[in-house]
Amino acid sequence: MNLQFDLEEVRQRARGAFLGMAVGDALGATVEFMTVPEISARYGVHREIIGGGWLRLKAGQVTDDTEMALCIVRAVATSQGWSREAIAREFAAWLKSRPVDCGDTCRKGIRAFMLHGTLEVPYNHWDGGNGAAMRMLPPALLSFPDGELLKKYALEQARLTHHQELSDAACLCIGAMLHLILQGVSKNRLRREAEALVARHHQFGFEPYRRLSSAYVADTLATVFHYFFKGRDFEHCLTGVVNQGGDADTTGAICGMLAGGYYGSEGIPRHWLKKLDRRLVAELERATEGLIAASPAGRLPGP
Ligand code: MN
Ligand code: MN
Repeated sequence: MNLQFDLEEVRQRARGAFLGMAVGDALGATVEFMTVPEISARYGVHREIIGGGWLRLKAGQVTDDTEMALCIVRAVATSQGWSREAIAREFAAWLKSRPVDCGDTCRKGIRAFMLHGTLEVPYNHWDGGNGAAMRMLPPALLSFPDGELLKKYALEQARLTHHQELSDAACLCIGAMLHLILQGVSKNRLRREAEALVARHHQFGFEPYRRLSSAYVADTLATVFHYFFKGRDFEHCLTGVVNQGGDADTTGAICGMLAGGYYGSEGIPRHWLKKLDRRLVAELERATEGLIAASPAGRLPGP
């Protein structure tokens, strides 16, 4: 376990990751499922949080990506620690609340829990969507900096709805990158992590970038990696990734957690943050505090 970090800096980066995820979700949702020519014809460059899109959102409204992550946060709070049963119950309560959207694989997994108490869906080669990877921030924070704990949390939360090797690999890679980001590593170090994933599973290849940004987890992560590594700052990373269209709220949410953690909440443009609902921002901030406080890092004795 690498203990070379300052807990206050970890909290700041974690806060940036949470806010960045929500900002990316809200920004990207406007252009979700649009193509690059459709986006440029309609918006030129899409760079404002204005809502709309196929879900007809209010400006600043977030979607399943942020909401499912918050289900995990609530489950950790109510059960005072990790419990996949508690997460499944939160997912079920969320699905019953008629959320604005929910992916097919997620819905199928949640229904299996509601009907049969299923906590791990059977392996399915076709369940390679990004729905489990988009929820990786809470498990990454709660396990920080313990890599073994991260693996357990990542796969347990993932397999409530997705049980597929590329989904698993994506969850583990995003989780490992988030741990590194919390420790303040360079983009070169993070790039090695992404390249290691590509070496194991060529489907995630992002150099050269193939400009596919579907909900297939390999396309999603390739798009996130391309724009995250190319981006100069948070705004540049996020504007790039969402203007690629496709599953833009989810590429936005995942790129937002990486870039938000990497650049910190100070790096997120004010005019984007101001568009988020005040109560949502308060909940994201409480979530950050709670998860870090309950993590192995937060429970270590101070210097
Ligand atoms: Mn969504
Ligand atoms: Mn999406």
